[in-house]
Amino acid sequence: MSLKHRIKRAAGDAYARVLFHTGLHAVVDALTPRRMLVLAGHCVSAPTCATLPKDMQIRAADLERILAWLARRYDVVTLAEGLRRIESGAGRRSVAVLTMDDGYRDNRTHLLPLLAKLGVGATVYVETRPLDERRANWTHKLFHCLERMGPEAFVLRYTEIAQADERGSIVLNQLVPHGEATTYHVKRVLKYEVDPAVRDRALDALFAELGGSDRELTDALYMTWDDVRALQAAGLEIGGHTVSHAILSKLDERAQDAEIAGCARALEAGLGRAPESFAYPFGRGWDFDARAADAARRAGFHSATTTHAGVHVKGRDPYRIPRVMIDEDAALHRIAAEACGGFELLRRLGIDLAP
Ligand SMILES: [Zn+2]
Repeated sequence: MSLKHRIKRAAGDAYARVLFHTGLHAVVDALTPRRMLVLAGHCVSAPTCATLPKDMQIRAADLERILAWLARRYDVVTLAEGLRRIESGAGRRSVAVLTMDDGYRDNRTHLLPLLAKLGVGATVYVETRPLDERRANWTHKLFHCLERMGPEAFVLRYTEIAQADERGSIVLNQLVPHGEATTYHVKRVLKYEVDPAVRDRALDALFAELGGSDRELTDALYMTWDDVRALQAAGLEIGGHTVSHAILSKLDERAQDAEIAGCARALEAGLGRAPESFAYPFGRGWDFDARAADAARRAGFHSATTTHAGVHVKGRDPYRIPRVMIDEDAALHRIAAEACGGFELLRRLGIDLAP
């Protein structure tokens, strides 16, 4: 983390603590325009997601504390409902939404009972290929291989298999002498600097070489259609998150449509109703583009969410709704400062302390 980033983080933290502990958050809330805060997580810590990175997990007790705090002050509803309330002006309070991405098993076993206990809604964005074909995306095969081989041995074997992508292999090999052959850097290179088609084939091959079974990996991590239908029946919203979690900005328009409209069709077939809400995989500004937003609109989605921090207010682009990531390090005071409009107030003054 850079020095500038650390200073911003510390200043943001101090500001959030003041708002949170003095009760000033209620004053800011009353003075700033009505807004929708959207939280983004992946799974509630559970044995079924033990193999996922820590930044994809949140402890149930932490999530409960955050949701209970928000529910006392805001309407905690699904994303589609929250957007309707903000755009139509219906309701008095601001809105907070919990979203969970990808469709992991804990969403039914651990998240659903927690939401029922608190009496709040949520939106779960699912990838449809794990549901339809019981196939996991490349990131899970990467985690599987890294866990068994370690990053350096992984780089050696992967680059042998992925010879067709010479440029990508050079970038990956350069990590080793620089001491950067870590899970973080390897994932980053495989995400942005290699040919995705070659990568997917190479990871499939390496995963199989290590005795991995796609079916077992998917069953261990992801919900089934029955699970997703149970969430819908309990009042949760099921949104789209592409077919295979591709980085949309790297695809041509036909492939974007296949990922986005294909996901909408699969959800309608599986759930008996067209989905309304969409989330861009990975969600950073360089992971999607204006064409992907158009493809989401054409596919019938009413909104799309990113993973840039912020809040949504009436009149802003519904295909770029910000979200605040939550994981094991999620801090209630920072979430409260965003929910009450505290960070938004600073952004309007040109200061962004909640990157
Ligand atoms: Zn995702």
